[in-house]
Amino acid sequence: MKTPNPRARTARRPLSIPDPRVSERVQRFPESVIREMTRIAALHDAVNLAQGFPDFDPPEEIRAAALGSIRSGGNQYTVTWGTPGLREAIARKARRFNHIDADPEKNVVVTCGATEAMMAAMLSLVDPGDEVVVPEPFYENYGPDAIVSGARVRAVPLEGPDWRLDEERLKAAFSPKTKVVVVNTPNNPTGRVFSRAELGLLADLCADSDAVAITDEIYEHIVYDDRTHLSLATLPGMADRTITINGISKTYSATGWRVGWAIAPATLATAMRRAHDFLTVCAPHAFQVAAEAALGLPDRYYADLARTYQRKRDRFVAELQRRGFECAPPEGTYYVMTDISRFPFEDDWSFAMALIERAGIACVPGSSFFARPQDGRKYVRFVFAKTDETLNEAIVRLSRVEDRMHADQTSGMSNGGMTAGRGKASSRRGRGSGRR
Ligand code: GLN
Repeated sequence: MKTPNPRARTARRPLSIPDPRVSERVQRFPESVIREMTRIAALHDAVNLAQGFPDFDPPEEIRAAALGSIRSGGNQYTVTWGTPGLREAIARKARRFNHIDADPEKNVVVTCGATEAMMAAMLSLVDPGDEVVVPEPFYENYGPDAIVSGARVRAVPLEGPDWRLDEERLKAAFSPKTKVVVVNTPNNPTGRVFSRAELGLLADLCADSDAVAITDEIYEHIVYDDRTHLSLATLPGMADRTITINGISKTYSATGWRVGWAIAPATLATAMRRAHDFLTVCAPHAFQVAAEAALGLPDRYYADLARTYQRKRDRFVAELQRRGFECAPPEGTYYVMTDISRFPFEDDWSFAMALIERAGIACVPGSSFFARPQDGRKYVRFVFAKTDETLNEAIVRLSRVEDRMHADQTSGMSNGGMTAGRGKASSRRGRGSGRR
């Protein structure tokens, strides 16, 4: 970027809450930028390509299962760690898709989304002073997860546009204090699907340092170009040192239902059940019933899902590239991380705000995926898990990113090259989700 300003991010929103009663712990992390962008998008009536959720519904049969459960008694607590039916379905799914052998009685913990599974896993493993190794950029929740559990994050930089794990950098992040490695594959925000060799390297380092891997595999079915997702737990020696996290949010377009799970070695599952019990007691009953139905969908469903997203990826990424965004098509997930260095903006935030206000499109500033925000200032992330109508509208709006933004500029200009073509809309308080 042209005029680096490392304080731009925090200058925009002070991190500290001016009240001495607030715990030091909470003073150390901001609210989620991803979720904040959804609110800002609504204020500007922007097409929301920020927070990762689809603007279409889950399959009808699983919605019917949720409603059926609500109508027939699925309204009270379940067993804390999940209904027996859902845990059995998770164990079957783990064998079918991941080649993981899980006992529903001993190894499965149902949680309120993968989000809670990650927090419960971290709380179960980490003591203050321990270190958590995470490839970077990373999904922003992992930072506060580590802070809340008292751990220190050791980020391992991945280099765009390939975002490959570098052996030396990875080794350098491990220390005698390493307790946990967080592995998110397919990876949010980079779209990387880590290779067997990269995962093998991680497995070796975990074994050498006696570390536990917590994998976030929530995008496992959203992989492209005939790639296959590989679960780290299936590599030699890893079954006993891996917690595999997943959920229904992304695969079945049900992000608001909050059903996730972890598959863990028995002792770690016992620990997680304790943390989970006192965090949330249980995931919503009726949506656990619906999740059980979802896990029974036929193979065709998963093939269609990947094909549909691949089509959206191809179209949207080509449009971005045409407009001067530097990005490679993601290998998996429904995100694309783009390098915006060529645009004449001071940083990711000024770019993202201009894109919302002038073009009516919301994205996520890249700095929110980095331990040191300044390391992500040349990136923004878009989500393309949207209906064709929404993507059409986004593509029309992208044309408001003027030609002159494509050329390298020598001076930084916070008013950038976006046309102010939105009339009153940019100052009007919009109502909705940005769906158009
Ligand atoms: N995982 C989604 C994203 O990265 C959002 C998840 C959330 O907001 N809880 O945008």
